[in-house]
Amino acid sequence: MLRFKVVEEAFDRKAVPVEIPAERPDQYYGSLVFNRKKMYEYLPKKTYEALIDAIENKKPISRQLADSVADGMKRWAVDNGARHYTHWFHPLTDGTAEKHDAFIEPDGKGGVVEEFTGKLLVQQEPDASSFPNGGIRNTFEARGYSAWDISSPAFILDKTLCIPTIFISYTGESLDYKTPLLRALNAVDKAGTDVARYFDPEVKHVMSYLGWEQEYFLVDEALYNARPDLVLTGRTLMGHESAKNQQLEDHYFGAIPSRVEAFMLDLEIECHKLGIPAKTRHNEVAPNQFELAPIFEETNLANDHNLLLMSLIAEVARRHNFRVLLHEKPFAGINGSGKHNNWSLGTDKGVLLFAPGKTPMANLQFITFVVNVMAAVHKHNALLKASIMSATNGHRLGANEAPPAIISIFTGSQLSDILDKLEKSTKDELINLAGKEGMSLGLAQIPELMIDNTDRNRTSPFAFTGNRFEFRAVGSSANCASAMIALNSAVAEQLTDFKAKVDERIARGESLTHALLEEIKVLITASKAIHFDGNGYSDEWKEEAARRGLDCESSVPKVFDAYLKDSSIEMFGKLGVFSKVELEARNEVKWEMYTKKIQIEARVLGDLAINHIIPVATRYQSILVDNLVKIKHLFTDEKKAEKIVAQDLVTIEKISDHMSIIKEEVDKMVQARKKANRIENEREKAIAYHDTVAPCMEVIRYHIDKLELMVDNEMWPLPKYRELLFIR
Ligand code: ADP
Ligand code: MG
Repeated sequence: MLRFKVVEEAFDRKAVPVEIPAERPDQYYGSLVFNRKKMYEYLPKKTYEALIDAIENKKPISRQLADSVADGMKRWAVDNGARHYTHWFHPLTDGTAEKHDAFIEPDGKGGVVEEFTGKLLVQQEPDASSFPNGGIRNTFEARGYSAWDISSPAFILDKTLCIPTIFISYTGESLDYKTPLLRALNAVDKAGTDVARYFDPEVKHVMSYLGWEQEYFLVDEALYNARPDLVLTGRTLMGHESAKNQQLEDHYFGAIPSRVEAFMLDLEIECHKLGIPAKTRHNEVAPNQFELAPIFEETNLANDHNLLLMSLIAEVARRHNFRVLLHEKPFAGINGSGKHNNWSLGTDKGVLLFAPGKTPMANLQFITFVVNVMAAVHKHNALLKASIMSATNGHRLGANEAPPAIISIFTGSQLSDILDKLEKSTKDELINLAGKEGMSLGLAQIPELMIDNTDRNRTSPFAFTGNRFEFRAVGSSANCASAMIALNSAVAEQLTDFKAKVDERIARGESLTHALLEEIKVLITASKAIHFDGNGYSDEWKEEAARRGLDCESSVPKVFDAYLKDSSIEMFGKLGVFSKVELEARNEVKWEMYTKKIQIEARVLGDLAINHIIPVATRYQSILVDNLVKIKHLFTDEKKAEKIVAQDLVTIEKISDHMSIIKEEVDKMVQARKKANRIENEREKAIAYHDTVAPCMEVIRYHIDKLELMVDNEMWPLPKYRELLFIR
């Protein structure tokens, strides 16, 4: 029995020893990164200074400078074992793309020299016709090019020098995630700086910070390989719940199995060599579920690090005979995986703008920024939901463990009280308050209050957690850039509006503090609907949210429509993050990807149902029938025989019923697919897949899972949940 062999192999496996570097982490940290220390060592002093100046002040790079940097970068890479280089970029599929080239160039004498020029460093033309582009390259220009992002350092992965790049079409439309992310970060820098200057005129920049928490599942490779659904779709398309899963909540605080511990240690060492500041690792709620979180960094770098981690984790898992599942919902009935995006803004003076300060003015700044975030999230709640939505994350949102498919903000009672007081204060009180620098509304006391901001609400998709917001609805397999582009853009737009209104008031003769307080009050009132501290899992909330006018759409393809709302097109356009053409093209890609994912799943499930499950159930059924006939012959006590026969008949009938429904539904699913495939319009096609194909999968699964409980355990062909989910 193959299944038993596979399970035995998995359960017998021992931890793989890890090669621990002889040095301490501070010695090897960043050893595979062309960071400032390496730049200083490998670049001529003038080059080094010019490059740092360009990075810090966002200046363009001259060809001469690029040549000099390329030369030093290549020498460092070769010294560290690299033979190839690649432009590393983030296409609109999930994950990253690379095309490796060797460092060799002809020397003109029949041999080669190892060379790397500024031209190759700065710009390349990957043959990118195979990347999704939503029709942009067909309509405008056949080629796309990648261009060096100097703000994220090059690194060595698998003996290849990887150069982080953006990826755009020749007509300038972005074909990746990094380009719009950089544009959004610029926008929030500018808008944030303007507002931060009310409080400190010396502020030069506002930075966006991201600290992601990556959740994932591990499965033994032998078991993984025996599950075609995991191999082909990243999730189990069938499988009855294990009798024991997460009810006892014993996984979260339980000891990490030694095999997993070895894997985590290995992963952490690799992260540190690549300059990813991995800090926290622990078990998660579901069995076999784990989390890794680094220390937060500037958003662009943090996101590169997350993408790098997603490649790295798969590679390290293989070394330990595991497969990592980054899918949002690999197993039904237990928690799925998310990727909380802890997000904040801070000034170049080191002030975190969502953290209360020591003076009333600092606290007014804190309230200013927090309230602007609330207003931005309120205005663009549908868009923010679209930014985290995907075929895979759609399984997680709305399920009973993750935030619902409605965006709301949790503030906690302390912040909530302050906002209430501000909102209710009269005009005279505000004037008074402005004069007294916030004393009477408790602005002076915020720091004390905030120290104990521990009431966390795990049901909220977007929560204030003391000095940052935590965007929890992001999916585990997602590129965080998608959420970060929408969020930073929305906040940039809001801060710009806010500044204009405050300036108007000042021009009319109001004092700065009074103008700020008045506008804060307006925003608190206007964005009240987004504020929800209650239980996000409850049905009452869904009704209440609809009454409040929050976006409650839960059909994945329709959720994407939010990108094409007037408010989204206007906002992205104004900020220069996306043109309308880019937004339309990107939505085409999203719908297409959605359709393809459901299409693949439907095919795999159809195959498994007809070729794996039905034959086994039929075989088992015929054993029962055989038995039944024999009993009839053998038993002389007719009453007894009748009873046994009646019992067996019920089972046989049930098996028949399940099998016939499965066959019918597979047929129905194939027909629905054929019909949907004829639809030209990508949106309509995705909706057809959502409405007509996906529901068949649910039904088929339900009946297969019932069969799993009836058919002889020894005959069942696929590893069961209880085998997949418990690493020894
Ligand atoms: P949790 O209790 O949610 O697990 P942690 O303390 O582990 O929270 O932090 C989660 C992530 O939040 C980490 O990556 C951490 O660096 C990050 N983080 C902390 N403060 C900030 C901040 N001000 N801005 C962005 N990320 C932050
Ligand atoms: Mg968290």
